Amino acid sequence: MNKMNASGWKPGTPVSVDNEGDYPTVTGNKALMLEERLVFELGTRETCGVDLPEPDASAPNRLGKFARRKPIDLPGLSEPETVRHYTRLSRQNYAIDLGLFPLGSCTMKHNPRLNEKVARMPGFADVHPLQPVDTIKGALGVIDELSHWLIELTGMSAVAMSPKAGAHGELCGILCIRAALEARGDMRKVVLVPESAHGTNPATAAFAGYEVEDIPAAPDGRVDLDALKARLGPDVAGVMITNPNTCGLFEKDMKAISDAVHAAGGLVYCDGANFNAIMGRVRPGDLGVDAMHINLHKTFSTPHGGGGPGSGPVVLSEALAPFAPLPFVVKDADGEIRLVEEENVGDEFPGSFGRMTAFHGQMGMFTRALTYILSHGADGLRQASGDAVLNANYLLRSLDDVLDAPFGDAGHCMHEALFSDHGFAEGMSTLDVAKGLIDEGFHPMTMYFPLVVHGAMLVEPTETESKATLDQFVVAMRSLAERAKAGDETLKSAPHHAPRARLDEAHAARKPVLAWNGQDDA
Ligand SMILES: *Cc1c(COP(=O)(O)O)cnc(C)c1O
Repeated sequence: MNKMNASGWKPGTPVSVDNEGDYPTVTGNKALMLEERLVFELGTRETCGVDLPEPDASAPNRLGKFARRKPIDLPGLSEPETVRHYTRLSRQNYAIDLGLFPLGSCTMKHNPRLNEKVARMPGFADVHPLQPVDTIKGALGVIDELSHWLIELTGMSAVAMSPKAGAHGELCGILCIRAALEARGDMRKVVLVPESAHGTNPATAAFAGYEVEDIPAAPDGRVDLDALKARLGPDVAGVMITNPNTCGLFEKDMKAISDAVHAAGGLVYCDGANFNAIMGRVRPGDLGVDAMHINLHKTFSTPHGGGGPGSGPVVLSEALAPFAPLPFVVKDADGEIRLVEEENVGDEFPGSFGRMTAFHGQMGMFTRALTYILSHGADGLRQASGDAVLNANYLLRSLDDVLDAPFGDAGHCMHEALFSDHGFAEGMSTLDVAKGLIDEGFHPMTMYFPLVVHGAMLVEPTETESKATLDQFVVAMRSLAERAKAGDETLKSAPHHAPRARLDEAHAARKPVLAWNGQDDA
């Protein structure tokens, strides 16, 4: 009996895919890239990957009414079939190790292999969160050393290491702000979020129970300082500002903003996900910031996206440090490193607002980030941020004659270059350009974000791309811009060379089919 599935395909038969081209193949495979089916379609119920002895029919049935009544509908595959299926899938994945990944606001930089080597050392890799503290002094030392660097680089007083990613760090920072306000009996209700802030900022404030109010952007893409000042008052708990902002611009009024917020009794949260542009050059503490998360998985090169967990330590000002969440690592005057947990928090740290996570944070990310920092040194980090900004400006100026750069006249950008769809022919869109980039062998940039720019294309090359790669990207982008402006219909159906062409994105997002429900034909 052959297994039939929902799509009607039978194992061993050619698949029907868009395989026209100049040289169609009978299998649907192209060169050594094989057309991949779902694992359910590849396997059959009759096949089993391992030889198990038949159960002893005379053995008592201990399952009773819980015994399975019909076979479980999982595909049977041999070990090599399984290995090949997942290896083939992995080859269809795009990654920073394959080529440019210019997602704006994401800092997709190269992850140095030295970081991986250190993170795999057994003393770090095998550490367990429930190990007795006496046996993890080295791990605590790493956390303490990394804390020291983060505090130095940001000019702040303390750092909460446990948050698991940027958005989690935002929540941690906002909860510190709330704890500080509550400690002085001041129950403020509103958090102000400029239009140029990242989408996680208003989401975080709302999640923490605050009313969120927008502050408009000025025509130069930065916070409208006067509008912000006009809204401050005794109901405002604070502001959440992304700096550099999502237009790729430095908020040059940051100090004036902080001073105004503090004068009105509020506190300042800065989204530090874009720290890669200013690391080693500007210290947020000097700009009056009270709390800021740092995405170790962006700025300090630990794998992210599908590739690894995040880590979002939050640096805190003197005003917020007493409210940091547990647990934290403390270095005493005699050099002894301690772990402060609930049972020993006592009178020493009475203000802590509680706990963000069960354990101490992302040890693997800490190890990688500290390796990155120590292998660069302060000068190297400063050079990295300078090169990141240089690369982004190189792209901005290599493309601003063919693409509209809405803030191109406002001077240099920071780590990312922003373009709009202004000037495209009727019916042509940013999406078409992004799809065309796939044909040219590049992962698309961030698109339709930030919202303040129509059809936004936000490109962040990072410092780890060579001039040769950037030049090739520029060639591709210039050609795509010309095609979009000329109304080239073939761009509307791109990508033409990817395993799948234009998908129905609205349908995929609104009605995702997440479970395979093909039925056996028996
Ligand atoms: C990535 C990012 C975040 C969220 O960080 P996660 O680690 O993905 O939770 C917040 N703000 C900005 C500006 C970002 O780029």
